[in-house]
Amino acid sequence: MEDEPLVVEGKLEIPFKYYAGAQASKFFIELRDNKKILGVKCPRCDKVYFPPRTTCTWCFSRLDELVELGTRGELLSYTVVHYSEPVHPVKAPFVYGVVKLDGADTGLAHLIGEVNLDELKIGMRVEAVFKKEREGNILDIEYFKPV
Ligand SMILES: [Zn+2]
Repeated sequence: MEDEPLVVEGKLEIPFKYYAGAQASKFFIELRDNKKILGVKCPRCDKVYFPPRTTCTWCFSRLDELVELGTRGELLSYTVVHYSEPVHPVKAPFVYGVVKLDGADTGLAHLIGEVNLDELKIGMRVEAVFKKEREGNILDIEYFKPV
């Protein structure tokens, strides 16, 4: 007998609000209103983090110098997802990749779209594709596509 997953459907409604913080607020507002992608630069070791964070993981300095990054970068790694789960932002098959934007020292895991699976290559150039209706979250970048 094959194991069959039992799926229990339900609904929880939990209204909430939270303050994203000064840095994350600027990051998401620029993304939503101006399609600009910000990183944060360490004043001591010059590392640039994307997305922004408040503490440098190399030298532990406090980070508050936001810098504008471009929309293009490099695919550092990827995986092809062949099954759908309710928590996935899109239906399978799709690609998750780690993208390091030009001028940044760190990468962000995000969706890679408009790509043939056999053309995927580590090091390929990609650029952000923005959603038309942006809401102030990381999915305002709908995905990154090959340049
Ligand atoms: Zn640093």
